[in-house]
Amino acid sequence: MSDTLHGHKARKRFGQNFLNDDYWIEKIASSIDPQPGERVIEIGPGQAALSRKLIARCGHITCVEIDRDLVHWLKKQFSSEQMTLIEADALKVDWQEICSAGKVRVTGNLPYNISSPLLFTLSQISDKVIDQHFMLQKEVVDRMCAEPGNKAYGRLSVMLQWKYRMFKLFDVPPEAFTPAPKVISSVVRMLPIDQPLEANEHVLERVVATGFAMRRKTLRNCFARWLQMEDLEACGISPDARAEVIPVNNWIQLANRVQALNIEIPMPGQKIL
Ligand code: SAM
Repeated sequence: MSDTLHGHKARKRFGQNFLNDDYWIEKIASSIDPQPGERVIEIGPGQAALSRKLIARCGHITCVEIDRDLVHWLKKQFSSEQMTLIEADALKVDWQEICSAGKVRVTGNLPYNISSPLLFTLSQISDKVIDQHFMLQKEVVDRMCAEPGNKAYGRLSVMLQWKYRMFKLFDVPPEAFTPAPKVISSVVRMLPIDQPLEANEHVLERVVATGFAMRRKTLRNCFARWLQMEDLEACGISPDARAEVIPVNNWIQLANRVQALNIEIPMPGQKIL
């Protein structure tokens, strides 16, 4: 059997950039270092560059792949003892069901066009996850890992750091892929926090989005329509501060206060990217 699917034209709509460089594939696999008996889930196995190395280490993985042609090819490459294949959209698959047999380790060289929604989908099952290792655009990983005071600190940082400890592992150059993407990629390790602070996710999303919608405004101005200065201060937030310096825990306090006061803050007209 061939190691790659000859004649397969990389599909842009599925974010297909296949890893082609053994040095980087090995480096990613050894960062994950799956062990026999672990439940490893790979999102988007593609032409199995990473899958092969994972299977060599732990014997069996479960994969979620959307591309029917690749699923067909993967089925011929691996036995069911080596790979359980789920032909599905990772955004729509039943993750609760996938995790029903025990905690999982999730990994993947993610399709960059759906990386943020996928991260939020997975955050719903963070209590069923041991760890996540993903390759993403460097710029996205920088935002995921950014700390308060950093330019990259924003909505993605707060929403994900609420649920995970984040570790950027290393960058991967465009030449490591076929076709080469236009951007540098990075590998990130995400470790779910045992008991994340209680918050209503929808309220938190709106509060954080409102705070960051106009980054240069003080929080007093951002929230002027809904909150008193005392509300901000009660959450340890200086009304004269800007969103980019407020730690995750204070955002959560603020969301809880907004909810307790029964205040409806609408979502500003932007998506989390
Ligand atoms: N893992 C392979 C590698 O590293 O060479 C392929 C990575 S490629 C960046 C992304 C993979 O995710 C492709 O195989 C693509 O078909 C698959 N994919 C794209 N969108 C998906 C989705 N919504 N659900 C599941 N798989 C998806």
